[in-house]
Amino acid sequence: MTLLLAIDQGTTSSRAIAFELDEAGALHPVAVSQIELAQHFPASGWVEHDAAEIWTATLQTCREVVRKAGGVGRFAAIGITNQRETSVLWDAATGEPLHRAIVWQDRRTADVTARLAAEGHEAMVQTATGLILDPYFSATKFAWLLDAVPGARERAERGEVKLGTIESWLIWKLTGGQSHVTDATNASRTSLMDLKTMQWRDDLCALFNVPSAALPKIVGCAEVSGHSDPALFGRALPIAGSAGDQQAALVGHGALNPGDAKITYGTGAFLVANVGAEPVASTSRLLGTLGYSAGGQTAYALEGSIFSAGSAIQWLRDGPKLISESRQSEAMAQSLPDNGGVYLVPAFTGLGAPWWNPDARGTITGLTRDSGPAHFVRAALESLAYQTRDLLDALAADGAPPLQTLKVDGGVTANAFAMQFVADICGLPVERPAFQEMTALGAARLAALGAGLIPDLSPHVTESPAVWTPRMDQSQRESLLGGWRGAVRAAIIAAQQSG
Ligand code: ADP
Repeated sequence: MTLLLAIDQGTTSSRAIAFELDEAGALHPVAVSQIELAQHFPASGWVEHDAAEIWTATLQTCREVVRKAGGVGRFAAIGITNQRETSVLWDAATGEPLHRAIVWQDRRTADVTARLAAEGHEAMVQTATGLILDPYFSATKFAWLLDAVPGARERAERGEVKLGTIESWLIWKLTGGQSHVTDATNASRTSLMDLKTMQWRDDLCALFNVPSAALPKIVGCAEVSGHSDPALFGRALPIAGSAGDQQAALVGHGALNPGDAKITYGTGAFLVANVGAEPVASTSRLLGTLGYSAGGQTAYALEGSIFSAGSAIQWLRDGPKLISESRQSEAMAQSLPDNGGVYLVPAFTGLGAPWWNPDARGTITGLTRDSGPAHFVRAALESLAYQTRDLLDALAADGAPPLQTLKVDGGVTANAFAMQFVADICGLPVERPAFQEMTALGAARLAALGAGLIPDLSPHVTESPAVWTPRMDQSQRESLLGGWRGAVRAAIIAAQQSG
């Protein structure tokens, strides 16, 4: 039996999962190991990780999984998936980080992207990269690191220091400094890669002040980009797959055709829709990105994020304390025949796509003397569906291929009321796979393809998914959407008037 080692390096933890590849080409998890990660908040809006800790935790979880799965002899390849955009600067000679990693959530370079937008660069950046100008993406983080570390800029020109996102850092460490590479999905999140050619662009490197000499080589998602140092696991393993977390989840779900889409409902929610072999330029402020480039196939995607999904349920629990556990929300919502006209816009940290309003805050509309705790709970769960629908409307406005089903994963999908409501409000069947670790599964499948163990990325699913089919009539849906849009308008107007 052949095993694949999937590394899933996330924002809150590092995990390794061993998958067994059966004769039919299906992957089955056989061992897992996880270590929580410390986050550092040195200033308001700043979020950092210790890249050395990320490496140590990754190595430890990999070694544990290799041991649990019966030793390195059964493993054929390594696949990596990671928190995207998080940026690392390290010394090529010592292999040590020169600064803490700047995490995707970090806003310290907001003034840089605001200046570039004010200078009129956004249209060009969006056309070239698919991305809007925002400190979220790696380019301004890379430049900040080079300026913050004395001498780093000059050393970068001489190739003495290296820049990369998390998978790039991990591949460097795994290969003992032999490979300085990044996969094209991670590169598509930097603002430096041309989305069509999948190469760094000199004009973007100049605009963001990032010397290309310090950047990794861009590789495909399913190719051997190096071999692990034999000293690490007792034998060299090819690193044969790599993709950012949301893109790996797209592959894990088997969303391989135009019109296939997945949404991960965790703390926030991320929608990624496969739009086919050519990028689609968004006019609705969705992000254009690479789905994957693997096995001679390239799939582009449009992406939209919801800032508060599961976090709205956490708020019910920790703020007004209307529930003591997330799962109670389902029965409470179902205890009502309808929402009683109450809508909650969970804009606790602003509104994401397609609104992109950082100043909006949480808003409740439609309260009456009959409104009770269950109305708040139901409104919070319903808001997941309305926000999803807003993203799907943005996709449609951008001319993306129409969706047939919505594939879902993440903690919130345990809530059957919420999933039925998503199906009803979006008018689409909602499908939740039996095995939920889509991100790690995607990394393992890419590695299996890269190592030549499977012919393509087609999923071989052995267990049937849970499916929710839409059953709400059109007029009810439209009336609920009318109530939601009124609530969003109220949130935006309140932000304008208090700003
Ligand atoms: P992340 O990967 O972002 O940490 P997870 O996928 O683990 O998130 O999902 C955790 C989120 O799911 C939490 O915000 C929690 O409130 C929510 N959640 C878990 N179970 C339920 C449930 N039964 N109903 C609603 N929300 C839930």
